[in-house]
Amino acid sequence: MLKSHCSAFLNILYPKNCHICSRIFDRHTAAYDDNICSSCYSTMKKTAPEAVQAPLSAPYERLLSCYHYEGAVRELIHKFKYDSRPYLAKTIEKLMHETLSEMGTSLFADVDYFVPIPLYPARAREREFNQSELLARILSTRHRKPCTLALRRNKNTRPQAVLSEHDRQTNIQGAFGLNYLPVKDKNIALVDDVVTTTATVQEAARILKEAGAKKVWVLAFAKG
Ligand SMILES: [Zn+2]
Repeated sequence: MLKSHCSAFLNILYPKNCHICSRIFDRHTAAYDDNICSSCYSTMKKTAPEAVQAPLSAPYERLLSCYHYEGAVRELIHKFKYDSRPYLAKTIEKLMHETLSEMGTSLFADVDYFVPIPLYPARAREREFNQSELLARILSTRHRKPCTLALRRNKNTRPQAVLSEHDRQTNIQGAFGLNYLPVKDKNIALVDDVVTTTATVQEAARILKEAGAKKVWVLAFAKG
């Protein structure tokens, strides 16, 4: 009771607003959660489940992406990653969870480990967090399966989206290494915030498969 009075009072002093459109949450603005409003949420476009099957040559079994990387989704990711707002991981994971539940995937029952796509250490220091690791940790808590930092980044790759197809391959080759080998015969959910080209997740999945991982599913919040 006291707590709800306190938070009502704090909301008057410091009104919460949507991190995407900046609208203040009041009785005219419905909130999706603490961080985004319902009208921004309603503009987010979900990925069709049939679009997420892996190509035959891919080293992962499935790529499950939840939203198209555009509009409010793109804005949310930018605020999260480049504007130092790690707490937005909670909103993003909630959006992922709802979409994945709607897809009716039974994947989480079979997952042994959540493994985030690692950042190069210098880049992680600069940003102060690895966005994929934050998402993997929340997913891990929700599904009660461990999050393991099995992969490490060996090189500071250039952003894949700006490169040609050929340069993407050479850019990402040798980018990942294994920290240790808990992955043999395990099913891995490889977590990334955005998949633009699939070269990065393909390379990471290849390393995991080479180390004996049984299945690798890629889970991404958005697909570009
Ligand atoms: Zn909004």
